[in-house]
Amino acid sequence: MRLDLHLHTTCSDGLRSPEDAAALAARAGLGLIAVTDHDTTAGVARARARSPELDLTVIAGIEISATFAGADLHLLGLGVTPEHPAMTGVMGRLQARRRARVGEIVARLRKLGIAIAVDDVRPPEGNAAVGRPHVAQALVRLGVVRQPQEAFDRFIGAGAPAYVAGGGPEVTEAIALVHEAGGVSVWAHPSAEDAKHFAALGEAGLDGAETLRPNLTGAAANALDRAARAAGLLVSGGSDWHGGNPALGNWYVTERRVGPLLERLGATAHDRRPVA
Ligand code: AMP
Ligand code: FE
Ligand code: FE
Ligand code: ZN
Repeated sequence: MRLDLHLHTTCSDGLRSPEDAAALAARAGLGLIAVTDHDTTAGVARARARSPELDLTVIAGIEISATFAGADLHLLGLGVTPEHPAMTGVMGRLQARRRARVGEIVARLRKLGIAIAVDDVRPPEGNAAVGRPHVAQALVRLGVVRQPQEAFDRFIGAGAPAYVAGGGPEVTEAIALVHEAGGVSVWAHPSAEDAKHFAALGEAGLDGAETLRPNLTGAAANALDRAARAAGLLVSGGSDWHGGNPALGNWYVTERRVGPLLERLGATAHDRRPVA
């Protein structure tokens, strides 16, 4: 079976609805996906509503904007109960923070002489997590930049003049919330340098690291994989698809590569019912 344990929908900063993402996943030959929107589980039920007809298992997930050593750390919660109070609580706080942050980013852009208003930032219908990609889209629409990437590079990416930090909970708190909601905590897209923190975060409760993903050289993937295993972390794999190219299903992991994680999640190849 082919799997992808990290993807986004229009409920956060993806370009495709949860329903479309599920259909595209099945059509591309994936048997299991985790819907992991930024700071919301709102897309899970919508993707699941499609999953029986598609013979697709949908793992309930979230990508929590957390803080570690003063910087942003994205923490995946896989197999969480979407409506658990631990989740709805942190989602409420983070979504309020996201709206305030967009206001702060817009204020900084205006100070840089760019004519943009908060109302120019228009996330899609059903969105629960407005963010920088929506600001980038507004800057494209206003003709300030040609591509969203240019907006990140020149204005809103980390280190750029209109950058505002995420301000999410400490990663240890985020890990505890994922556990409370019955999920498995996974460090999303860690860099090679991040690997030196695997052991310490493992001791703080972190369960896994996303060491399998596109665009990693074989050497980098092996180094991350070794570091994760040495720290006793589960290995996860996901494309972090946001709705564009390459298409969903182009990249995937096999069950063999993430067997212990799937076992922890209670999902197996022959059990395609939704797991919590
Ligand atoms: P936010 O959640 O508002 O902080 O936005 C984070 C999202 O913006 C990430 O998940 C990516 O989708 C995108 N992003 C962040 N940094 C960059 C960057 N330097 N270039 C392009 N996209 C980025
Ligand atoms: Fe994103
Ligand atoms: Fe991320
Ligand atoms: Zn992501």
